[in-house]
Amino acid sequence: MKRALVTGGSGGIGAAICRRLAADGHHVIVHANRSIGKAEAVVAEIIAAGGSAEAVSFDVTERAAAATAIEELLAAGPIQILVNNAGIHADAVFPGMSGEQWDSVLDVSLNGFFNVTQPLTLPMIRTRWGRIITISSVAGITGNRGQVNYSAAKGALHAASKSLALEVASRGITVNAVAPGVIATEMSEGAFDAETIKKIVPMQRAGKAEEVADLVAFLASEKSAYISGQVISINGGMI
Ligand code: NDP
Repeated sequence: MKRALVTGGSGGIGAAICRRLAADGHHVIVHANRSIGKAEAVVAEIIAAGGSAEAVSFDVTERAAAATAIEELLAAGPIQILVNNAGIHADAVFPGMSGEQWDSVLDVSLNGFFNVTQPLTLPMIRTRWGRIITISSVAGITGNRGQVNYSAAKGALHAASKSLALEVASRGITVNAVAPGVIATEMSEGAFDAETIKKIVPMQRAGKAEEVADLVAFLASEKSAYISGQVISINGGMI
């Protein structure tokens, strides 16, 4: 049984990833920031289904707090699967974008990637096996109006994943990004109505969190050992 940390496991896509990794037999550490109750509910669901899980909470933008929490988790054993899924958006057309909107999105997605992934990398290298999967977005590939901050953060995660993949490739660790399109969760609920989705998604529907989770689970498995440094889209044919 491998131990997997899923940041933002309290959110829509993160919870689905947690359930799926648990179903694959991993011990899942369901991470939350503010919604620890939601993470605990996911843990209870996994345990009720016969799986193994625990909840943890910390703010990924707080470097010291993240390092302390990760040290405590590592004391119980190695973490060999990391899913960087925590993310926020704070949309505005660029001329009206505030510094706070820019900073907050970069802080959670990009600095959060560093704050969580960096302290886990050397311990993962020591085990000679690892999977680092980061949830980005179609906006990080194509750009998106009103999301200069969000697409900058997600695009940077693609570049970071490619560089890290090169550094750890010889140690049995793969590093990939998964770039979803429109996925039905609380985050996307206010952003797109059904008509807009029909226009922008060739498959004319939003994706399901479970569909993203299936892709992540494959990338977390033994079977994906030769896939690294890739950005893999899951978007109903949008691009
Ligand atoms: P949700 O809003 O449902 O979940 C976001 C998660 O991120 C929550 O668990 C939240 O924790 C966590 N989080 C936010 N800020 C912080 C922070 N400072 N520290 C730690 N955790 C934090 O979003 P989704 O499930 O929809 O999205 C998950 C990922 O998928 C994101 O990275 C998003 O950008 C990406 N994505 C989503 C798409 C969609 O259509 N839904 C499309 C493309 C990409 P808590 O609630 O506990 O505070």
